[in-house]
Amino acid sequence: MTYAAELIRDSRKIVVKIGSNTLSTEKGQVNYKRLHNLVEQLVSFMDQGKQILIVTSGAGVCGTAAINKWKRKSDMNYKQALCAIGQVELMMAYKELFKEHGRHVGQMLLCNDDFGNQSRNLHIRNTLFTLVDEGVVPIINENDSVTVDEIKIGDNDTLSALTASLWGADLLIILSDIDGVYDKNPKEYPDAELIEVIRDIDRATETIQIGKSNDFGTGGIATKLSAARIVNKVGIPMAIMNGFKEDILKAVLDGKEKATVFLPE
Ligand code: ADP
Repeated sequence: MTYAAELIRDSRKIVVKIGSNTLSTEKGQVNYKRLHNLVEQLVSFMDQGKQILIVTSGAGVCGTAAINKWKRKSDMNYKQALCAIGQVELMMAYKELFKEHGRHVGQMLLCNDDFGNQSRNLHIRNTLFTLVDEGVVPIINENDSVTVDEIKIGDNDTLSALTASLWGADLLIILSDIDGVYDKNPKEYPDAELIEVIRDIDRATETIQIGKSNDFGTGGIATKLSAARIVNKVGIPMAIMNGFKEDILKAVLDGKEKATVFLPE
């Protein structure tokens, strides 16, 4: 059995981060087909007794497609307005898809300040635990339409790592458009090799060549490595898997697809 398969099998509390590239089409609309497939797999995990929490990106991208203007506006107020519009599109998609399985979703929009503040921390934890205990799927995003640079987390890889730590997850899964971390960017180097297990994140980052990210991606592989550092430090393993592939979670669990896992010491 692969490490990734074992991790999924043995984890009860799982945070799943879905990146912008994974959940949107090339035109920037919500990719319902892909999201439908992911939701189906997550619900089947929940039916097996696992608890699922989603961290989702994509508000800005979906906002641009929904309103079909302001694409070239670089002013902060327009960017934040697009996130306000797109967040609704995103949640509508999740709501509809989980509803098909008789599940409710709950939205939580967070920012950096919320994690640093003891009282807010407690309230986030209590809300998360209540939602999950009642079988509701918490869907978390950064509060992009109100955060400014000073209090911004800035990328959802880090947000998912902070959320996993706060919730005390057993596993963080980051779904991207790639099978995992390679020794160098496979989109630039066809001979790049997938690294399936990373035990010492600090040493690994010294040797991995970090290349460019994609159209809608914000952090690229660098923020995924720093997310691994955050969760591994508190004893939580992390895995990167290819959200573009159908039935990816089941395929990794069955050992049919590869992934990269980051194991804490
Ligand atoms: P997401 O939107 O899913 O968070 P990103 O585009 O931000 O995705 O990051 C994933 C991308 O990072 C990959 O598609 C790949 O092109 C790029 N990348 C750069 N260097 C590497 C590397 N060493 N291993 C894997 N991917 C890399």
